[in-house]
Amino acid sequence: MEIFVTNDDGVLARGLRVLAEVAAEFGRVTVVAPEVERSGVSHAITLSEPLRLREVGPGLGLERTDIQWYALSGTPADCVFIGLHHVLGRKPDLVLSGVNRGPNLGYDVLYSGTVGGAMEGVIQGVPAVAFSLVCTGAYPFDAMRPHLRAVLAEVAARGLPEQTLLNVNLPSPDLAPFRGFKVTRIGRRYYSNDIVVRTDPRGGEYLWIGGTRVTMEDDPESDCGAVKAGWVSLTPLAPDVMAGDALAGLRRFEALAPVEAPARAGRIRAL
Ligand code: MN
Repeated sequence: MEIFVTNDDGVLARGLRVLAEVAAEFGRVTVVAPEVERSGVSHAITLSEPLRLREVGPGLGLERTDIQWYALSGTPADCVFIGLHHVLGRKPDLVLSGVNRGPNLGYDVLYSGTVGGAMEGVIQGVPAVAFSLVCTGAYPFDAMRPHLRAVLAEVAARGLPEQTLLNVNLPSPDLAPFRGFKVTRIGRRYYSNDIVVRTDPRGGEYLWIGGTRVTMEDDPESDCGAVKAGWVSLTPLAPDVMAGDALAGLRRFEALAPVEAPARAGRIRAL
């Protein structure tokens, strides 16, 4: 198998290295990952800046010479696009993203650069899997190798449905004892709306989106509840985001005719 790997935590992230090494048991691996952390960039692509691609290797502690490693000054979706069309020059058999440092549960999947990278793989016509590690303490990436291996073996043996990415959240043993693998729906997960306001060393105010306090549902049929209970959660995601159920009810808009803007009293005249 030809396997392409990216992430959003950056090319030096431990989770990326573990995923690339496990993937190398299944085939030839090429890694193109953001040169710095790009968590939370979703499926963004870079259109207004140059992208710099650098081959990295043993000098950065990436001792495996059988894996090709590149750093790109872009997003995870940029990495997949450049990786497939420039570095590889062909479609791989599989695109992998992660292992992310932290969960991608519930609506996280809309913000996640890890999922964004995998989604670009699906859009390019390649089956894709996103991996994230849910944890409360130190991240035990190495302990996840058997779980990664199990999922990759199944994907290698029987593939994935067309236009579908598998969003896999791995529970750390500190959450709950490992229960097994569970196919789930997207659950409900809410962040607190905290904004941290601080002062920088030069006296300027800066804002930081906090939102570290999280509540998430317990239903084990959902990704959130499954991971909490110790299951490896596997949720199928697709690039088709249309709200199909709303189509028929919105047909009324087709009866609209253009309406003149109502005159507003006391309107300020254009300068
Ligand atoms: Mn991340």
